[in-house]
Amino acid sequence: MEVLRHTNSLCPVCLKRITAVLEKDGGDVYLRKLCPDHGDFSCVLWRGKPDFEEWTSRRFPLSGPQDKPENACPESCGLCGEHKQKSCTVILEVTENCQLKCPVCFADAGSPREAGFDFLAGMLGDIRRKAPEAILQISGGEPTLRDDICDLVGLASELEYPGLQLNTNGLRLAEEPGFASCLKKAGLGWVFLQFDGLRESTHIALRGRSLRSAKEQAIRACEESGLGVVLVPTLVPGINDDEMGDIIRFALEKFPVVRGVHFQPISYFGRFPGPPADENRITLPEVMNGLVEQTGGMTKLSHFHPSRCEHERCSFRGVYLVEKPERITPVGSGACCFGSSTAEEGAKSAIESIRRRWGADVASVYPAKYSTNSAESEIEDAFERFIRIYERGSFSISAMAFQDAENLDLERLRFCCVHVASHDGRLVPFCAWNLTGRDGRTLHRCR
Ligand code: SF4
Ligand code: SF4
Ligand SMILES: [Zn+2]
Repeated sequence: MEVLRHTNSLCPVCLKRITAVLEKDGGDVYLRKLCPDHGDFSCVLWRGKPDFEEWTSRRFPLSGPQDKPENACPESCGLCGEHKQKSCTVILEVTENCQLKCPVCFADAGSPREAGFDFLAGMLGDIRRKAPEAILQISGGEPTLRDDICDLVGLASELEYPGLQLNTNGLRLAEEPGFASCLKKAGLGWVFLQFDGLRESTHIALRGRSLRSAKEQAIRACEESGLGVVLVPTLVPGINDDEMGDIIRFALEKFPVVRGVHFQPISYFGRFPGPPADENRITLPEVMNGLVEQTGGMTKLSHFHPSRCEHERCSFRGVYLVEKPERITPVGSGACCFGSSTAEEGAKSAIESIRRRWGADVASVYPAKYSTNSAESEIEDAFERFIRIYERGSFSISAMAFQDAENLDLERLRFCCVHVASHDGRLVPFCAWNLTGRDGRTLHRCR
């Protein structure tokens, strides 16, 4: 066992700050920590290739000065003066209500609590002032359960947020004719659509009911109204980690309305009763390798890169041009802001990249869907072909590994660029907002 880095974490029982180490065991890396009151804890962080040290850049070296957060971190989140990254995305939770009672929900949705329109309107103005460059994610619970959701989107649009995203399970989009158009007309850019797989058994295991046809209908409604879609699967070992390739193929068939797939390996917030075992986790390299294996050579490990905005152990992405569903070409480095030298440049470049990839005007690219005319293709010269493919926009494959109380590394948290707007006016890093002790106690989110 080799110690790679000393860092800080929390005890998952009492949520007190404790020191922790990243330790390497063969090709795997673990976070290990000891609470004087509750004993020692270990959690897997990284399994397999790419090698953890190779993935690590000079920006977050494993050697050199050790990470030293302020004593009040993360209790004083919101954002304190010691935070190292600005807001790239701000999440506004507009309701705690939801039709589904998913065991994997980090929002612990299901309660009928929700703020009034005027209060949220005030928050929209406040967020715009505090985080002027951030993309807004309207979230929940299930935000489409609000009757005034189109008005809220319209107000956010008037405030000229750099990008406007709605996180949804897609049920209202599927069921209510005209709803997708209402959102589009109000100024929505794209939808983050919860989409865990193609098998009904996956939906039943993760969401408690069959959802496949509703998801397809939601995508059709977005296509008809000109809204972009990013599919967001929560990956759970033994449930849907063998569906990654099928999800990518499905998404490519639906390109350009579907502009990417953003995987979220399961993290353990809120509703999980017991401490999760390492077998119940899937780490970022396992997602990358699963994609390579399951996409039959379309993707390679070398296509995937860390972000230069958030901490590099939080996420990866690859960006592609799409000629046909079965023919995609990686673009450049694939990193959202590869080469950016400062945190500020990294954030700026990440926001631009997200707007370009996910926020492109889908309606304007429909005429350029896959060409089926082979005679036409033959006489088209290489440059024209490149332009035709390029104009359709890009397709991204990405993942973010949220941190829970078991695997939290404060070094990562302090570079978080995904911030939740608390109703008391604070912007709180997402993983701090959702942190839950083993007894269900939270640090920041109100229960
Ligand atoms: S995570 Fe960031 S905002 Fe929160 S206390 Fe630590 S440095 Fe401050
Ligand atoms: S939300 Fe969590 S996983 Fe994502 S950037 Fe922030 S700390 Fe990292
Ligand atoms: Zn403890």
